[in-house]
Amino acid sequence: MRPRAPRLRGSFALTKDAAGDENCIGCKKCERICPSEVITVVTGKKRESPATGQKRGWCDDFTLDLTACIVCELCVQVCPVDAILMCRAPTKPGFEREDLLARPEFASNANRAKHRTALNAELNATLARRARAEWVEMLNRAGVPCGPIYSVDQVFADPQVAHLRAAVEVEHPRLGKFRVLDQAARLSRTPAAIVSATPEIGQHTDEVLAELGYSAADIAALHAKGAV
Ligand code: SF4
Ligand code: SF4
Repeated sequence: MRPRAPRLRGSFALTKDAAGDENCIGCKKCERICPSEVITVVTGKKRESPATGQKRGWCDDFTLDLTACIVCELCVQVCPVDAILMCRAPTKPGFEREDLLARPEFASNANRAKHRTALNAELNATLARRARAEWVEMLNRAGVPCGPIYSVDQVFADPQVAHLRAAVEVEHPRLGKFRVLDQAARLSRTPAAIVSATPEIGQHTDEVLAELGYSAADIAALHAKGAV
């Protein structure tokens, strides 16, 4: 028997009918609800069931990546024909740390503050066992608001940031094209927009002076005096 991958915490099987065919009708409900997006169902053509003689749907292929499954069992709950069996691994996964609750040094807020270094070491060791995306998913599902801390390039690659159009591209005369953050507040009646890159020092001085009524000669004189 092959050794079990360390992150495999559940077991999964598709149930079969009396004729030995899988019960799955290929409806894709499990694929759509799976928060980890680890199920792929290829729906087949409808045909008669050898077991019942009734016409029913079939699935031509069903894959489930147990290494990324969080064993939430939503797929089991949503399946209309009870086609999925999912069991949690009997041993506790490495990310559960109820043992910390029994430790007096972490029993109260005052104690946790006092032993912050030790607590951080425990949490860091545990957090390192799973990918960041998995923690964000699990914590949010448990009602703990959290999100990833991104590097700048990851911020702009985030689908939500792209969806909100939080970054806009501007052209800088010296640095070329680059992206900057757009206005955080979107006002419907007075919408703001980023129209250019941050100007160089004095880049618009002549333009502003001309708008204020200075003639080209006046501006040239101001430049000559070193006033602008
Ligand atoms: S148990 Fe949850 S995460 Fe795993 S395949 Fe089913 S729906 Fe997806
Ligand atoms: S929800 Fe059930 S019947 Fe539908 S595709 Fe998934 S396993 Fe098959």
